[in-house]
Amino acid sequence: MRWTHKLIREVAQEERGALGLGPFDEFDPYALAAAYGISVYTLSDLRDWDLPTEVHEHFHQSSGTWSAALIPIGSARLIVEHDGHALVRRRASIAHELGHHLLEHPFNAALLGENHQRLFDKAKERQADILAGELLIPQRAAQRAAFEGWSNREVALTFGVSEQYAQMQMSGPRVRADRANRKYGRRT
Ligand SMILES: [Zn+2]
Repeated sequence: MRWTHKLIREVAQEERGALGLGPFDEFDPYALAAAYGISVYTLSDLRDWDLPTEVHEHFHQSSGTWSAALIPIGSARLIVEHDGHALVRRRASIAHELGHHLLEHPFNAALLGENHQRLFDKAKERQADILAGELLIPQRAAQRAAFEGWSNREVALTFGVSEQYAQMQMSGPRVRADRANRKYGRRT
């Protein structure tokens, strides 16, 4: 499957639609994981759960750098997340991992247990980011927010993301809004 940005966004829009979300509604990554039968465990959970060795190794070997990981166990999938991170970051991390799942990125079994960057290649990382971005802040909503001059803080509070994430997702829509405002002489 050749994933274009447009197709990736459509996948996200379908998932938001299935969850009954309008463009400005906050996305719940835990609800989407549950809809796909993917259990989400925190690092703290792992201390109490008798999970397979590869899962333990996965997080031990990469504890400094990762924020979440999608892990295949047979045909099942689970997500382990770093609950030491802020909730807004955890939400974005899980959305990203769900991106790998929804785009059916194959796992490289030989690399499981090493760090996340090596589990999927750069192009697949970018695809998962685009999908997560659309799940969290749909472009349609971002574009309207940009025209209405929303601050990063307003975007962050509406969509449940960090201000930094808001800025990143709003940069393209803001450029387009500025350009259109200049072209049509609208006051900003
Ligand atoms: Zn990834």
